[in-house]
Amino acid sequence: MSGLDARARDDALAFVAEGADTMRAETIALAEINSGSYHAAGVNRVREALAALFADLDAESTVLPSPPLEVLDDDGALRERSLGDGLRLRKRPDAPFQVFLCGHMDTVFPKDHPFQAVREIDGDTLGGPGVADLKGGLVLMHRALLALERSPLAGKIGWEVLLNPDEEIGSPVSAPWIREAAERADVGLIYEPSFPDGSLAGRRKGSGNFALLAAGRAAHAGREHHLGRNAIRLLSEALVAIDELNGQRPGVTFNPGFVHGGGAVNIVPDTAVGRFNIRVEEPEDTAWCERELAAIIDTLNARDGLSLELHGGFTRPPKVPGPANERLFDLARACGASLGVELAVKPTGGCCDGNNLAAAGVPNIDTLGVHGGNIHSSDEWMRVSSLVERGQLSALLLLRLAAGDWSPA
Ligand SMILES: [Zn+2]
Repeated sequence: MSGLDARARDDALAFVAEGADTMRAETIALAEINSGSYHAAGVNRVREALAALFADLDAESTVLPSPPLEVLDDDGALRERSLGDGLRLRKRPDAPFQVFLCGHMDTVFPKDHPFQAVREIDGDTLGGPGVADLKGGLVLMHRALLALERSPLAGKIGWEVLLNPDEEIGSPVSAPWIREAAERADVGLIYEPSFPDGSLAGRRKGSGNFALLAAGRAAHAGREHHLGRNAIRLLSEALVAIDELNGQRPGVTFNPGFVHGGGAVNIVPDTAVGRFNIRVEEPEDTAWCERELAAIIDTLNARDGLSLELHGGFTRPPKVPGPANERLFDLARACGASLGVELAVKPTGGCCDGNNLAAAGVPNIDTLGVHGGNIHSSDEWMRVSSLVERGQLSALLLLRLAAGDWSPA
């Protein structure tokens, strides 16, 4: 049984449906602003566009300045990179039940990437950078909130929106903002794209990004080869040892994904940088990984004239939905069913801010954005009609949360 009456429900669904063309245009406009994670000016332009879009919700709005981020560059130097700023919106912060909504503004496509424009693939499909991941989701989140605000139930709940600038690089700057919001939140809604068939993500692996800086000693390859200490060889041995950890623990994978080092081939190289990603399935896996990495590095560091330095770490704990989260999935499935949409919940090796929110103890659904696919590639696409379908799903979820149809305990 739901505390939501049919009239409030129908009004909200009709309001979202009327926004179909507007949402399509808003998504295109946002996707055509480049907002690669390290393109701070572009991310800030997206933030300004979103501040203008969300203004009709009449919420208290705060710009969250990003501190500079220290990054190990490919040449082995630590440099500060600046990121765009975040945006927080709060409405009725004193209401007894608080919903946290989150979506990122950045994309994986840098400013100089060839994939910059949106194009129509067919009547119901748009291709473009970030259309699915995650700009379409931001647009429908806004429409769903507007539908809530127009309804008589709005006063029953408060909400907080976080638009973060750095999800695609593991949320290094926004993780504390998410933790802070988690303390105030009863439930979380995150607008990552759903699976191409519309399914929601349930269990998610955890993830960490790491970099190894190998340092040796330069020497002329002809005259003084014996004096050199080859950093590329050191890095290679480390990466092979790391790759051999694959298969040693169920669900845990290691992916050396990038190397850079050396220069002229008549010089023994003194610097090399390697990057790798680790995925874990259980919370205990991270400590095991850290022990194994430390053992590899300690062994190699014992050699004369060579050193290895580990940077980075785990930023996303695995997401293992508990009973309250399972009931939240039940509510979403019920909302979907009433819209004629069958929602499946599937596990995934991917991860997002929903991992961090779950680790902070907040039940959440993190794939409430549009249907889309081939994300993180130049073939990224979204299904235009899912703006309405997903907007209605979110509006209905918000209304049913306001009607008291779910509680964390
Ligand atoms: Zn995303």
